Amino acid sequence: ISLQISRFEINGLIKEIIDLLDLEAERKDALVQLQTSNAQIFVNADKQKISQVLINLISNAIYYANRDKAQIIISTHILKNKVLVKVEDNGMGIKPEVLPRIFERFYRVETSRNRKEGGSGLGLAIVKHILEAHGENITVESVFLEGTKFAFFLERSAQ
Ligand code: ATP
Ligand code: MG
Repeated sequence: ISLQISRFEINGLIKEIIDLLDLEAERKDALVQLQTSNAQIFVNADKQKISQVLINLISNAIYYANRDKAQIIISTHILKNKVLVKVEDNGMGIKPEVLPRIFERFYRVETSRNRKEGGSGLGLAIVKHILEAHGENITVESVFLEGTKFAFFLERSAQ
């Protein structure tokens, strides 16, 4: 894929996406919040594709929420010349034996496949593909029935 790199402010983009997904969050009674180390953080990246990454991760976090007090925290932190972006939820979590497979195309965990609603299993494959095109990796940590945390870096742009 070809990237259109520009300089943009990531916290503003995250807030726009939280607004965009507001109805879905409300339907699931999920609280979606941004936590950040700095009011404004500029990055060099493909804004449209990073929007897609955030939409896929945050809508998964909303969709796979499974408790009364569903909480999703998106956080951004400056680390030298990089920005660390995390999407954390307290949802259903992912069993360790299937965790390595979730970035595969069309892979869905059995329980989610059985649900009548639900996607195609492409969301995370697209996320990984977009970040790799930026020269970045995505990591995941999950505790089954407790929650999941995704993290990735973006290139920081000086103010
Ligand atoms: P779509 O293509 O519509 O995104 P999907 O959500 O099933 O479909 P992915 O986003 O690629 O596909 O996610 C793959 C699988 O990983 C999901 O089916 C789900 O089982 C699991 N998963 C992803 N994100 C989470 C999460 N935040 N909490 C728990 N399970 C998750
Ligand atoms: Mg998905």
